[in-house]
Amino acid sequence: MRDSRIALVTGSSSGIGLATAKALAASGVQVMLHGLEEQGTGDPIAQALAQEFGVQARYFGADLASAEGVEQLIDATVSQLGEIDILVNNAGIQYTANTRDFPVHKWDQVLAVNLSAAFHATRLVLPAMEQAGWGRVINVASVHGLVGSANKSAYCAAKHGLVGLTKVVALEQAANGITANAICPGWTDTPLLNHQIETFASEQGVSIEQSRLGLLHTKTPYPSLIDPASIGAMILFLCSDAAAAITGAALPIDGAWTAQ
Ligand code: NAD
Repeated sequence: MRDSRIALVTGSSSGIGLATAKALAASGVQVMLHGLEEQGTGDPIAQALAQEFGVQARYFGADLASAEGVEQLIDATVSQLGEIDILVNNAGIQYTANTRDFPVHKWDQVLAVNLSAAFHATRLVLPAMEQAGWGRVINVASVHGLVGSANKSAYCAAKHGLVGLTKVVALEQAANGITANAICPGWTDTPLLNHQIETFASEQGVSIEQSRLGLLHTKTPYPSLIDPASIGAMILFLCSDAAAAITGAALPIDGAWTAQ
């Protein structure tokens, strides 16, 4: 990979996004980190990355529930680092409730952050990628982009939508050196799971540690939650020239959850 590549990883203040930013920075990519956190919280994360890997790294906070928030983030990345070669649409939220009781504002929020933000970011970066004749769009979807689970209507709708968006962008850009792929992780060890782990622990009357495995084993006998670093490594591979023909794919990293 050209070592002056510039990446924007949305939702990279923690979890899968931060692991991805680290994997990219470790191979010499300049990275814009992003999250909901204040500048004073995000800056030290970017500084630590820059120091560890000797790359330029910045942080910009923006709420991606609106198109304006996404536009501000893209503008900040381009003005601080340059045109974006690698876009990782990773920011996401979860909310669980039965469909008949699902709060309408939560539906709107989950769709906005998990799906519409990826559309806005993608439409805004494609012109420069086309100009450069090279680009990578990687959408962090979920196993819930491939299968459903009860009480996750908004999340499943958004993630299935994200897989669909990925396929369309891949087809539109197949001739232009730009690939688009979706990653479909199963349960991964990040703060996003905390609420579900706590709920499962109190429902089952077990410890938090037992709940982590118990929750996992409702879907697959795989022995541990997935390491976010393994998702970062897959995203780094998708950015390599060896992955030039992998496009339009929805790649599970799920301990065989969707093999059933
Ligand atoms: P996380 O909670 O550690 O990270 C979520 C990130 O999204 C944070 O940086 C947060 O600041 C950002 N974010 C949340 N709401 C936002 C908003 N309104 N605007 C802008 N940014 C916002 O969770 P994670 O598990 O690392 O999640 C990353 C992605 O991986 C999400 O898209 C999630 O759906 C997906 N995913 C996670 C799992 C899992 O088990 N953890 C499984 C499959 C897919």
